[in-house]
Amino acid sequence: MSGSTIFARIVAGEIPADIVYQDERVTAFRDISPQAPVHILVIPNREIPTLADVGEEDEALLGHMLVTASRVAAEQGLAEEGYRTIINCRDHGGQEVYHLHLHLLGGKPLGRMLPGAGE
Ligand code: 5GP
Repeated sequence: MSGSTIFARIVAGEIPADIVYQDERVTAFRDISPQAPVHILVIPNREIPTLADVGEEDEALLGHMLVTASRVAAEQGLAEEGYRTIINCRDHGGQEVYHLHLHLLGGKPLGRMLPGAGE
């Protein structure tokens, strides 16, 4: 069944994506516009617009997203040197696609968390 965002259509297999992991709860696929040598998005299969929309009933799902990110990072060879995870939320967070997603970035030193912060 197709959903309202492009990510829901990726979960449904309606549009192509480079999927690196999928189960009944989450899907992980490569970002179409990578910001690092490895840039993978981990999303819930169920449509949740933003991190501001989650509740207690989502605790297990959110935990599964993090465990999936950790496992995918290890599979991508990122675990030893490290990586970054980011969840952008709504306007001030710079969120563009309103289907919750966790960015997994790595493969090179990523520098400061927020460029220019603290200067
Ligand atoms: P946001 O800014 O919402 O946190 O991040 C959205 C991300 O989704 C961006 O990094 C963007 O490159 C990625 N993206 C947008 N459309 C597509 C798509 O159709 N396929 C894939 N694989 N990534 C996408």
